[in-house]
Amino acid sequence: MVRPSFAWHFRCVVCGATIPANDLAWQCPRCSGELSVEGLPAQLDRPGLTGHGLWRSASVLPVPAPDRGTMLGEGDTPLIPVEIDGALVHLKLDSLLPTGSFKDRGAAVLARYLQLVGARRIIVDSSGNAAAAMAAFAAAAGLECVVYVPATASPGKLVQARAYGAAVIPIEGSRDDVAHAAQSAADSDDSASYASHNWHPVFVEGVKTWAHEVHYQLGGRQPDTVIVPTGGGSSFVGAWRGFRETGASIPRLIAAQPEACHPIVRAWQSGTSITSMPAETTMAEGTKIALPSRPAQILEALSDSDGAGVAVSEDELTSASKLLWSMGVYVEPTAALGVAAFRIMKQQGDVQEGATVVIHITGNGLKSTPVIDEVLS
Ligand SMILES: [Zn+2]
Repeated sequence: MVRPSFAWHFRCVVCGATIPANDLAWQCPRCSGELSVEGLPAQLDRPGLTGHGLWRSASVLPVPAPDRGTMLGEGDTPLIPVEIDGALVHLKLDSLLPTGSFKDRGAAVLARYLQLVGARRIIVDSSGNAAAAMAAFAAAAGLECVVYVPATASPGKLVQARAYGAAVIPIEGSRDDVAHAAQSAADSDDSASYASHNWHPVFVEGVKTWAHEVHYQLGGRQPDTVIVPTGGGSSFVGAWRGFRETGASIPRLIAAQPEACHPIVRAWQSGTSITSMPAETTMAEGTKIALPSRPAQILEALSDSDGAGVAVSEDELTSASKLLWSMGVYVEPTAALGVAAFRIMKQQGDVQEGATVVIHITGNGLKSTPVIDEVLS
């Protein structure tokens, strides 16, 4: 198959190398650094906000909308005002996306891209929400999906990916061993592509649409502060890219991490680079990432937005989860990190009176039944 040509390219954030957009690259072939998508229009075309779901952002997406409008109804999630500790905040409910997590945004755009460049099989490594999201959008795009998981992963978390038709391959060893097994399987198969949510720059391009939606849901206004549960950083970097593309000034971006694993908060506090931090036990399983794959872009987003990092204890996380559930908002504990961080900031006087605050609600409570059952008992 002849691969289509695109008007954009990949650029290595670390060494500056450029790579053609139709190359199945996911990291820099020269220095193994993180890639970003460059060469798209700088600003969202507002009159172009027609179409459906997240594809209304097509003017700044690397691939055109699917012929049938959306693949699975991705995008257009509600932004709801709620009161937390006496303050009004807005919750962006990406927990209501088709597979139940924000990762659907990245998976939809990445699956569409891989379909257009002629991949037949996508290979991912994940034992959680990314596996379900990639498996669902692979199914919708007519691609095979293979998921590499740690042999120790809980089978319950993989049911959803298996239901979508993904093949699940358990790998003995560390999380890195699993990633390497997936990468070498993709390298040795010309029809396959490594569709990593942690590495692939096209994934972030899909995720950034949550920021576009927030901007328009606030009536074409930028929020003042945006709080994001952050592990690998795709939602955080996506927020930075997305809010920048609205043409208004970038809101303050806050990365919320569990105390049990907070390499980004630690780097922000100490003014150093992001280094690996061994993860302790936490309910916020989605953010247990010892070393994010996009450190340069995360730090740039923090500095560019005059942002901050907030670490959340397990008690604070439990309390924020219970508060959301008691309001009728059913989230997995990872997705309550933003609310927990907001309460900490408010207590410290770090939220201005009357500020417009948006919190990214990243995953649905239906994902974490056993954990939530334990919290309630
Ligand atoms: Zn490089």
